[in-house]
Amino acid sequence: MRFERHMMSASNKKPTLLPLRKGRGILCECSGASACPDGAPNGTCSTQPGGYCFVSVEEVLDDNGLVVLDRTAGCLPPDESGFMQCKSSQVPHQHPKVIECCSRDLCNRRLHPALPEPPPEVTEAPRAAGGGASPGALAAAALGVALLAALAALWLLLRRRGPKRPPSPPAPPPDASSGSGSGLPLLVQRTVAKQIQMLESIGKGRYGEVWLATWRGEKVAVKVFFTTEEASWFRETEIYQTVLMRHENILGFIAADIKGTGSWTQMLLITDYHEHGSLHDYLQTVVLDTNGMLTMAYSIVSGLAHLHMDIFGTKGKPAIAHRDIKSKNILVKRNGQCAIADFGLAVRYVAERDEVDIAPNTRVGTRRYMAPEVLDERLDVTNFEAFKMADVYSLGLVLWELGRRCATEDGRAEPYALPYAGRVPPDPSFEDMHAVVVRARERPAAPARWARSPPLAGLARLAAECWHHNPPVRLTALRVKKSLARLRADSAVKLV
Ligand code: ADP
Ligand code: MG
Repeated sequence: MRFERHMMSASNKKPTLLPLRKGRGILCECSGASACPDGAPNGTCSTQPGGYCFVSVEEVLDDNGLVVLDRTAGCLPPDESGFMQCKSSQVPHQHPKVIECCSRDLCNRRLHPALPEPPPEVTEAPRAAGGGASPGALAAAALGVALLAALAALWLLLRRRGPKRPPSPPAPPPDASSGSGSGLPLLVQRTVAKQIQMLESIGKGRYGEVWLATWRGEKVAVKVFFTTEEASWFRETEIYQTVLMRHENILGFIAADIKGTGSWTQMLLITDYHEHGSLHDYLQTVVLDTNGMLTMAYSIVSGLAHLHMDIFGTKGKPAIAHRDIKSKNILVKRNGQCAIADFGLAVRYVAERDEVDIAPNTRVGTRRYMAPEVLDERLDVTNFEAFKMADVYSLGLVLWELGRRCATEDGRAEPYALPYAGRVPPDPSFEDMHAVVVRARERPAAPARWARSPPLAGLARLAAECWHHNPPVRLTALRVKKSLARLRADSAVKLV
């Protein structure tokens, strides 16, 4: 029997696609919990017309931290639908996984994909010739990965153990398969993704749904991307894995994975969970005192300044612009600080090539928070500074949202409001925003009471310097950070 075989592996970057067949679907063996649809008879499933049978084999860690091979068999939809398993070498990082596909009834019973040689970082132990590993080499590999997993678990534990944690956690353990970047070894990331238990949906954005989940008894947040949003998932994963990305005011990344067999694919991003949710939701009900407001403002600006900063050197950090700064993309931590989230639209500046690595997706930012030059389509996409300046404009609006919820000594605060609420409809169009922000050059008003409170008056001045019409005139995030530090110091002196 001849199989139309397709093989993907960590070393095969360009898979050849199987020819698409029309007509009836085919019957495939299915095994492995995630591959078999509910009620599939006798361990089989049927594909849609033009679909394929597959077998995948990947290395995962079991509960004892030992490497085991996980075999899954099932049905795949036709090539053109969504992110295909047979093309999963497009995943931003390479991991030990191999898939073979075929297109005759039950043909996958005969598929035995073999994993490629592991990268040298995983284990020094050589494999026996002919693809089979000697028992000694396997044991050494298992030991190595178990050690890595233990390190990772320890790292995760330390990262979330309370107030003694330094602002930037220690460097992550050596990366098992990507060689660089922030975060856990990729094999461990995949294993974390397999071990999470989803509890409840806690948020919906335009690009996915966020769930509260647990991983070994710890709460984590899991963003499940819509299948059409693979570019956002890819981008966000890439950004989180940027070297030196970790910061106490940037949402803590834990793992990313793409799961899916059978007729569905799930793209996951696992991060720290923050029970207070987004700043937007938090400010609806909570009134801040001056200290609380300044702590939040300072932390947001610290996160943004870190993002914007480039750190030179062999293990340096590229400058990153967020492009969707708004109160819904900022989370409130238990210690009263904030963390910036949602990097699906971010861009990086590649200093060596003097280039902006533009996100390959078509997503645009949130119209309400768009800088005038973005609304005007005058932003020079080849100039990285321009993206930073647009971020600072949006930051100004967030500072204003914070100010309204900060009570003065008389206990007064304004009700929560979105920027430009009342000036544009709830879901404003480009034209709505353009008319107000560009043509009329309107900006949110500072309530009269702010003038009588030095911190709020200072905040109003800063916001105005952030949302200036002329981008180069705007403050940099670092400058805003320094000014807020001064405001904090002054208001602390007054409190004593
Ligand atoms: P999208 O890209 O779809 O906009 P976000 O990452 O912005 O997704 O998340 C959507 C919403 O989910 C946020 O506005 C927030 O309310 C909630 N959320 C996201 N991440 C977390 C988290 N780590 N902890 C708690 N809530 C979160
Ligand atoms: Mg969002």
